[in-house]
Amino acid sequence: MSRFTHIPYVVLIAALSAVILIPAGCDRETPAPIIAVESLQLNSGQRSASKSSISAEASGLGAETPSSAIKPHFVKQIDWSEKGIWVKTDTHIHTTFSDGSNSVEDVVLKAKSFGCDVIAITDHADRNLKAATPEYLEAIEASRRQHSEMIILAGLEWNIPPWGGDEHATVLVSPDVDEWKTLSVFKSRFDDLGLMKHKAELAEEALRWLDANAVKKGVKPVVIYNHPSRKNDSSMETVKHVLAWRKINDLVIGFEGAPGHQGNKAIGSYKRKVKTVDRWDPVVATVGDGWDTLLGKGIDVWAARADSDFHNNRPSDLNDFWPGQFSETWLYVPKRSPNAVLQAFRAGSFFGAHGHIARQVELTVEAEGLARRAYPGEAIALPAGKSITVRVKCVVPAKDWRGQPNRVDVVELIAINKDSASIIAKKSLSSDGIVQFDSMEVPKGGLVLRARGRRILSDAPHLLFCTNPIRIQTDN
Ligand SMILES: [Zn+2]
Ligand SMILES: [Zn+2]
Repeated sequence: MSRFTHIPYVVLIAALSAVILIPAGCDRETPAPIIAVESLQLNSGQRSASKSSISAEASGLGAETPSSAIKPHFVKQIDWSEKGIWVKTDTHIHTTFSDGSNSVEDVVLKAKSFGCDVIAITDHADRNLKAATPEYLEAIEASRRQHSEMIILAGLEWNIPPWGGDEHATVLVSPDVDEWKTLSVFKSRFDDLGLMKHKAELAEEALRWLDANAVKKGVKPVVIYNHPSRKNDSSMETVKHVLAWRKINDLVIGFEGAPGHQGNKAIGSYKRKVKTVDRWDPVVATVGDGWDTLLGKGIDVWAARADSDFHNNRPSDLNDFWPGQFSETWLYVPKRSPNAVLQAFRAGSFFGAHGHIARQVELTVEAEGLARRAYPGEAIALPAGKSITVRVKCVVPAKDWRGQPNRVDVVELIAINKDSASIIAKKSLSSDGIVQFDSMEVPKGGLVLRARGRRILSDAPHLLFCTNPIRIQTDN
């Protein structure tokens, strides 16, 4: 039996001819998969040849398992798959309660006019600012009463210890907890800005405190690492941060893959060493970077989130897009409720997009014997060698965010295993918004699949949509 027996055909072809597979215009900022594969070697420390990097044997996972040992089944299932609804969200917004220029009601009205169903007010938790004060919650409550059709979450942008004001995370809590008490105690005890001593343990304590004090009816708070590489020397630094937090508990669900401040000259306000790639943080945009590394390690974190980080829309200043104007995170929720939104974030049931290029994006994996298709956030177990059908389906609206004719030029399928990550296929959408990739076999050791769509622009960064991953295991 050839050592390549378990390698899916398309994976093998992709590895051997990765450069050929990159169409003109797609490699402007994104390194070719071979380079990406090299970046993942940082974590394996074992491999030497890129060709063997995608070999199932190279993963070294477990002994030979007879194919018959595993019946296709769901390992992690989202209860509302195929029966939920899509809602448009922006959960990173500032107001005059911190350094934003507009009131809560102003941003709610604008978000509504740009089609948001859900927003979160997430002012900075700096102790000298007014987030998490009684007035903050009163203003949010007033907008909730005024716009009962919208879901308006109360949150904070946390200065994460031990980095003073350099690293941020969105903290969202259920309205079923005492929001004022929870957020104000969190701010006073755990915000790192202005502290005399900066200790990583304080972040760990904060996550434990949230778990003990802000879980209601089984709904946990959601913490998301914002603009993750903005102040790092390398986007790979984010991996150790997430690993440290996930050792404490699962409250940190992932990254803000596409930062806000998309109207800035330095996109995302990425003014230091690391720059955005096609408007996304390289942790997501560079195949094999931080996100894929975590996924390859078996850590399910989600990064398909694109927000406004709205502060002000003055052209002479930050020039931010309003919530929903350019960046969108679409959540697939079981119902229209604040807790359902938190559950969908936690489940990974969402995608992010720029420029309104796509709606209802669904990456699915289908296999004979599986009760239904699997969707992002879910995990399935299949015997090695099992054939799977991978599909991306979406609605491409007639008009984009500027009211111009819309299009998605190419959809890319990204495969990740313990040692490597690469783009394994690229295809155009059919006229009915479907891409069906060539069927492939599941390699021993399994793989994780994620997808993204791209509008290629010659004179500007591309516009992308990005899905969360589906995990395929071949062992239990
Ligand atoms: Zn921030
Ligand atoms: Zn912010």
